[in-house]
Amino acid sequence: MRAIAINMEPLKEIKCHKCRHVLLYGFDYSVNNCPQKCNSYNVHNFIFLDDNKIPEWIKFKIEEENWTKGKLHCYNCGFKVGSFDFVSGRKCECGSTVLPSVHFITSQVDKPVELCLFNKVTEK
Ligand SMILES: [Zn+2]
Ligand SMILES: [Zn+2]
Repeated sequence: MRAIAINMEPLKEIKCHKCRHVLLYGFDYSVNNCPQKCNSYNVHNFIFLDDNKIPEWIKFKIEEENWTKGKLHCYNCGFKVGSFDFVSGRKCECGSTVLPSVHFITSQVDKPVELCLFNKVTEK
């Protein structure tokens, strides 16, 4: 029998708030790439996806709209979970960066707990 190496990656998944279908798994998201750390990147409002790491089902949706803009719905139950915009290049609140094109609305999805704990400091 061969041993199978299991990668103990932290659990990173985003689920539809309504039907609990997993929408995203193991992707990098919510990168705070504004130097001012302004409110636009607040995970309590939006979860942004890296443009280079968009999962296939979202890409398919974007291609349907010819890389313009539209809404993202859960592919299982149709609940609105976010949107994308490749047209306007909306800037973040403080104006130093252009917001990523694809985002989930935090209140419409179930996000992993680790996103809420990213500022936690462990004292010993
Ligand atoms: Zn759903
Ligand atoms: Zn900013």
